[in-house]
Amino acid sequence: MLEFADALEKLKQATLPYQQTEVETLSLSMLVGRVLAEDIRSTINVPPADNSAMDGYAIHTSSVSALPTTLNVSQKIAAGSKPAQLAPGTAARIFTGANIPKGANCVVIQENCDSDATTVTLNSGVSERGNIRKLGQDIKSNEIIFNKGRRVKAQDIGLLASIGIQSALVYKRIRVAILSTGNELIQPGNALKEGQIYDSNRPMVETICRELCCDISASIHIQDNLKITTDALTQLSKTSDMIISCGGVSVGDEDHLKQAVSNIGALALWKVKIKPGKPIAFGEISRDKQKPCLFLGLPGNPVSAFVTLHLFGKLVISVMQGMSKNITSEFEYKADFTTTGNNKRPEFLRVKCTQNGLTPYSNQSSGVLSSVCWADALAFIPENTAINEGDTLKVYPI
Ligand code: AMP
Ligand code: MG
Repeated sequence: MLEFADALEKLKQATLPYQQTEVETLSLSMLVGRVLAEDIRSTINVPPADNSAMDGYAIHTSSVSALPTTLNVSQKIAAGSKPAQLAPGTAARIFTGANIPKGANCVVIQENCDSDATTVTLNSGVSERGNIRKLGQDIKSNEIIFNKGRRVKAQDIGLLASIGIQSALVYKRIRVAILSTGNELIQPGNALKEGQIYDSNRPMVETICRELCCDISASIHIQDNLKITTDALTQLSKTSDMIISCGGVSVGDEDHLKQAVSNIGALALWKVKIKPGKPIAFGEISRDKQKPCLFLGLPGNPVSAFVTLHLFGKLVISVMQGMSKNITSEFEYKADFTTTGNNKRPEFLRVKCTQNGLTPYSNQSSGVLSSVCWADALAFIPENTAINEGDTLKVYPI
């Protein structure tokens, strides 16, 4: 059985050969969630000039030998205007975001001043560089702000715009097909008959893939049957870069995915030492004269499907999309619970992050999907480790 960290690294390496190489240029508003295919370098300083962080009076500190001091107000500078050089021994009325005039080295905030029509009296708050936002304090000209391989976040759009970027090169979307298997599954909208349950994994997996900016090439449910499974995989592979299935990869008589993938490609079963969701299937389906279609088989239990998709599937998708670093996000936080240490495998508990620490959901069964909806994160509990309140745990936000 693979350790969790080793499984992540192995999956990453195994996925690299399938990485998307085709690129496209997209406008700023279309970039969110997409993976950059170029480094983004700034050609300007941000801010482009020293400017005022506050409303107040721009002065040179050498004009002030004692406080209070009264100075003539020689000009008024609003944001967006071009200031004249500051006349020596005077103050300039200045507003937030306005450029600092040459000859000034401090902005005294208006709360520290008294003023009339032509003069200002400075009472306090005079210090060199006070309340001045320096040229380039955010971004320096020629600096790379984002590296190739980064998934663009909403806030990145702001930073890109701040350096005047209108469009960027990204990797083309990968096409993902979702396949759920099981005779017991029916689709929402139909009444349940005896023995049936609703297919909850398929829309969930599909949605996570959409959130990751995948192009959903198909999303279907099939019965547990070898021929149907083989035919479905063959068809889906023609129009997809990747197929994600859920269920049907254990050792039961009705689990046909392993055999089907092996028939038309190659499959490795990776037993990862984690709970929930230890078996994941990784393989490929051969296609004529093209890149093979990657296959990822998730467990059927909805919690296991979610957890493995979150921890492994997202990694595979992200690597395929052109990412290579910072894919899995994690942080550390203290536990607000105890465990006995009777866990033979490392466990990912569904937890909420409260001000007292991490609180686990009351029912950690892999059949209880409510736990995933309730939780903020998955907390990693090392094998055979008793957790005490206050212990620091590794946490994976969901
Ligand atoms: P399997 O891996 O196919 O043996 O499925 C394991 C468990 O997960 C069984 O209880 C299935 O009924 C359930 N299951 C499998 N696929 C789904 C699905 N798409 N939606 C909800 N439950 C599922
Ligand atoms: Mg099944």
